Amino acid sequence: MIVAGNWKMNLNINEAIELSNGLLKHNEVFVEEKIIIFPSFLIIPEIYNLFKNSKISIGTQDCSMYDNGAFTGQVSAEMIKDAGCKYVIIGHSERRSLCHETSSIVSQKAVKAVSAGLKVIICIGENSKDREKGDYLFVLEDQLKQSLSDLSNDNNLLSNNIIIAYEPVWAIGTGNTASKKDIEEVHKFIKEIISSNYQFNYDLPILYGGSVNSKNSSEIFKINNVDGVLVGGASLKSDEFLKIIKNSM
Ligand code: PEP
Repeated sequence: MIVAGNWKMNLNINEAIELSNGLLKHNEVFVEEKIIIFPSFLIIPEIYNLFKNSKISIGTQDCSMYDNGAFTGQVSAEMIKDAGCKYVIIGHSERRSLCHETSSIVSQKAVKAVSAGLKVIICIGENSKDREKGDYLFVLEDQLKQSLSDLSNDNNLLSNNIIIAYEPVWAIGTGNTASKKDIEEVHKFIKEIISSNYQFNYDLPILYGGSVNSKNSSEIFKINNVDGVLVGGASLKSDEFLKIIKNSM
């Protein structure tokens, strides 16, 4: 199971170091490549130094769709790789809604990231209106295919480098975790789309995200086709995050 913690725009350097040290105390029991932390860009060097000899990997919460040049405020995939990161989250719903990021942009960013040697967590998820209308599976299929569109011609790029996170927008930060039935249905649906549209010999992991915590994570890990979780709020306290990691083992 993968346990990824998205710190979003939280934690100053001291808070982040304290939290990281709390996690590092348990490094021995962790499984390599299964725990990933996504700090803010600014504190990546400090966190990289803390985690570089540990089993915890780090990544960023976004990357640019461009290589370099006049793109004020942006950070390229090559720079992220150069800073020691192994992962990047692309297409988080907060970026899709607050920064107007389309699935086409997500796809272009994903190409840059995998080309730079990063592994990518691509987020998809329906909003509450899509769910109420009942057409959420169409929405998800469209998001998934569009977000992979620039990668789909090259299965080598997809192989081993892509992870999908199903994060229903209505479940993020709300305390309304999706039900077992909802998660099972969507994860199966995503696996089916992947296996019928892409020919590659790789069991692409699918994470669930949306109000995961130490209390509900054990049940979520037992759901078919759940390969891990993407955690926001509950990744900001080491005890809480450690309990989720423990439940994943
Ligand atoms: C997220 O932002 O990816 C997320 C899942 O947040 P939370 O766990 O707080 O719902």
